[in-house]
Amino acid sequence: MGVEGGPEVESCSYCGRQVNPTLHRRSGDKAFEVDYYRLITGQLSKMVMQDPRDESQQIEFYKLSLPRAVIACRDCIQKQEVESDLESLFSGVPGNGGEEAAG
Ligand SMILES: [Zn+2]
Repeated sequence: MGVEGGPEVESCSYCGRQVNPTLHRRSGDKAFEVDYYRLITGQLSKMVMQDPRDESQQIEFYKLSLPRAVIACRDCIQKQEVESDLESLFSGVPGNGGEEAAG
């Protein structure tokens, strides 16, 4: 795992097939084609710290520990069992909308 200097090859966590990077096109009906979906999950621990600017305030946030990447190809993501598996992986994550994972 992790060949240095080379492009990272990833494979679907469900069927194991190699997935292709997202293809960008200049024109056409589809501007880009997504071959797989990468989702980061893991255990969230709630952290509380003091606001450095105002010591009477506390800041709460969730720290992702044991991050784990799950890759689902576009074929697998449509399967019911994969969908429910992903749902169970992501339940318990505080919802704040469906924004993209950074990274
Ligand atoms: Zn797959």
